[in-house]
Amino acid sequence: MSERLLRGDRFALARGITLAENMDERREELLRLIAPHTGRAHIIGVTGSPGVGKSTLVGAMARSLRSCSHRVGILAIDPSSPFTGGALLGDRVRLRGLESDPGLYTRSMATRSFQGGLCRAAWDTVRLIEAAGFDTIIIETVGVGQAEWEVKDLADTTLVVLAPGAGDSIQALKAGIMEIADIFVVNKSDLEGAEQTRAEVESVACMRRRGEWSTPVQGVVATDGRCVSELIHHIAKHREFLGRDGRWARKRQQRWKSELRTAVLIHLQARLGDLEGSSVSEQAFQGLVSGRLTVSDAVKCIIQSLVPIQL
Ligand code: GDP
Repeated sequence: MSERLLRGDRFALARGITLAENMDERREELLRLIAPHTGRAHIIGVTGSPGVGKSTLVGAMARSLRSCSHRVGILAIDPSSPFTGGALLGDRVRLRGLESDPGLYTRSMATRSFQGGLCRAAWDTVRLIEAAGFDTIIIETVGVGQAEWEVKDLADTTLVVLAPGAGDSIQALKAGIMEIADIFVVNKSDLEGAEQTRAEVESVACMRRRGEWSTPVQGVVATDGRCVSELIHHIAKHREFLGRDGRWARKRQQRWKSELRTAVLIHLQARLGDLEGSSVSEQAFQGLVSGRLTVSDAVKCIIQSLVPIQL
């Protein structure tokens, strides 16, 4: 299966992603086999509030990248609850006319596992998609919750998408989302108020510099593709920027770090769940209630009981 995946077989890829999502025992072996073929794709995160036109924009970007012969993978992260499970917004990515293009692969994934943040399988999926020969991977998150923040850990280049009206840009400013942008995109530039939104965003972009990179603000019209090639140009420039002075390697190290942190947190959370109602947690609780233990003592008891850990 790994050989077929490395040759770009989409069925093997789809199956591999499913193994990763289900934490199947064959997942580790598969990831080990494909590991030497990962780490080279340019990963682009696209985030912003619902309705600003992210899906439409991702479709337009894919079209533009395909016309420059890039092989494009798209991962849409859906905010589905653990109860519905499935990826509800599978049709979010607007790719009319590209459905049968072998140079394009799309997948949507539910954030079912971890506090509404990027599911752990997202990290694996990115690796699997790049091992299958896709050089550009776009990750689209629904602009709610933690995934918005986490996308920057996974992405090399993060696009924050805004649209005119409804005080959207001001809200984004308040939420601090501006901090994660490598490029600002003002979509729906065909609508009234686009100029004002752009001016607002530009004033924010000017106020801060991210090292030597000055964050561009690009107006686009995703519905008809206007100015999307300019946006692709900024993305290529950012890729070039990352290629200098060891930034690319540092970014990958950073990604390992945050993946490790996420994995540890997921394991700890699962173990804590297992402990609920156990004699250890009951003792800690009773100790607290009776005043025999302080909160720190109780924490110590619980943490100590987590070792040795079963992975
Ligand atoms: P998302 O929730 O951020 O993924 O937004 P969608 O891509 O689903 O788009 C939300 C709505 O905005 C849809 O009705 C789109 O047709 C519309 N839309 C997207 N891009 C543009 C644009 O550039 N101009 C205009 N006028 N409408 C747009």
